[in-house]
Amino acid sequence: MRRVTVIGGGLAGCEAALQLASRNIHVRMIEMRPAVETPAHRTSLLAELVCSNSLKSTDPVTASGLLKAELKALGCRLLETASRCAVPAGHALAVDREIFASEVTATIERSALIEVERVEQTALPADGCAIVSTGPLTSDSLSNSIEEHFEGGRLYFYDAISISVEAESIDESLIFRGSRYGKGGDDYLNIPLTEKGYSDLVRFLLEAPKTEKRGFESGMCFEACLPVEVIASRGEESLRYGPLKPRGLTDPSTGKEPHAVLQLRQEKRDGSMLGLVGFQTRLTRPAQKKLLKMFPGLEGAKIARWGAIHRNTYLDSPRLLDDRQMSARQEGLFFAGQLAGVEGYVESIAHGLLTALNAAAYLEGKRLPLLPADTITGALQRHLSGTERDFQPMNANMGLLPPVRGNRRERKAKKAERAFASIDRYLAENRTITD
Ligand SMILES: Cc1cc2nc3c(=O)[nH]c(=O)nc-3n(C[C@H](O)[C@H](O)[C@H](O)COP(=O)(O)OP(=O)(O)OC[C@H]3O[C@@H](n4cnc5c(N)ncnc54)[C@H](O)[C@@H]3O)c2cc1C
Repeated sequence: MRRVTVIGGGLAGCEAALQLASRNIHVRMIEMRPAVETPAHRTSLLAELVCSNSLKSTDPVTASGLLKAELKALGCRLLETASRCAVPAGHALAVDREIFASEVTATIERSALIEVERVEQTALPADGCAIVSTGPLTSDSLSNSIEEHFEGGRLYFYDAISISVEAESIDESLIFRGSRYGKGGDDYLNIPLTEKGYSDLVRFLLEAPKTEKRGFESGMCFEACLPVEVIASRGEESLRYGPLKPRGLTDPSTGKEPHAVLQLRQEKRDGSMLGLVGFQTRLTRPAQKKLLKMFPGLEGAKIARWGAIHRNTYLDSPRLLDDRQMSARQEGLFFAGQLAGVEGYVESIAHGLLTALNAAAYLEGKRLPLLPADTITGALQRHLSGTERDFQPMNANMGLLPPVRGNRRERKAKKAERAFASIDRYLAENRTITD
């Protein structure tokens, strides 16, 4: 019987398990929650989204939209579920976290080929085919075992979580609805800030007490997910070019673009919870309460989820793993998702899918060629096995793709068209392995 052990029932692990089961391969999935918790997960559900509820843009001329289109062509299961659990978010695919995770959990638990065990895996398996997808918050015992396996070489940085509030507790009369440049209807709630309100906020962020994290250095933060106080420390105007950007938004009460804008996005399908977009923070809890009072309409807001900062573990993949993300020291031991060095929800799902295809091919004694370099999925695979000296996890981005000529919009459209053609060709040529 063909069998794979999947360690970690997060985004990468669940996608990998469903892909393997659909190829008639038996899966033993090991997930430590709820027996052992992580600092960021809040439920015992599989495929839980730990922070934002957004899976980003669906526009195929953006990197995340293109990645989604490629994943659709590859038969991605979790994206299919996500589109059934969507909440309004303009051009983005955002989901009701609980409905999404519950649906994935139910699908996995219903599968006759997947057996789920709720225990902590404390050491790497010594043999057999396994996919380790325990993510950025891999438990300490398993992290130690990984370190021993590779004789060092594990890395980390810090990631932050943004604040969410109960929708009923905000005063909407001071807030206007709308999306940037009118694209996406009334999906966002926008809180305009005056020049004074903005500079008071910047001062508050710089002076407010932060949680102490042993060994924390702000230089070790992931650039795409910086705490707001770290952004504020880079200069008075930084937040106006980041999460508080007013571009493309007109305050109906003044008919003008506000000085700065905080956006809120729906996080639950019933509209009961709203996330502060891009407002990751490591302020102490009392300081987070004071922070909300600086935004008109949020003075009485109740926090549904606190901002926080966490250590984020990943492997130095180019040096430790082969180009299938299989350990160079143990045949059949694959690593997938953020632990292997991709960054982001959809990227982790994508890598779970690719690793399942690689593991399925491995069990057949075959080897799946890398996806084409001019697709986002192929480019991410290459990043993980590249030659970069200072390896860092990577989000999907158009800069990973080989250049084309034209202006900015034309270049993106040409790259997207080329990627579609490449993935179709690849699937036609490798049908026997990918099916
Ligand atoms: C705090 C934080 C916030 C983030 N916010 C965002 C965001 O807003 N948007 C975004 O795109 N990306 C975000 N990320 C990055 C990343 O996309 C997610 O972490 C994503 O969930 C990674 O997917 P994964 O499958 O690799 O790991 P996970 O989804 O974390 O899954 C790993 C699973 O393994 C389990 N596990 C861990 N150790 C063991 C063990 N020893 N035995 C058994 N099970 C174990 C965990 O309980 C978990 O269920 C964030 C990361 C962190 C840490």
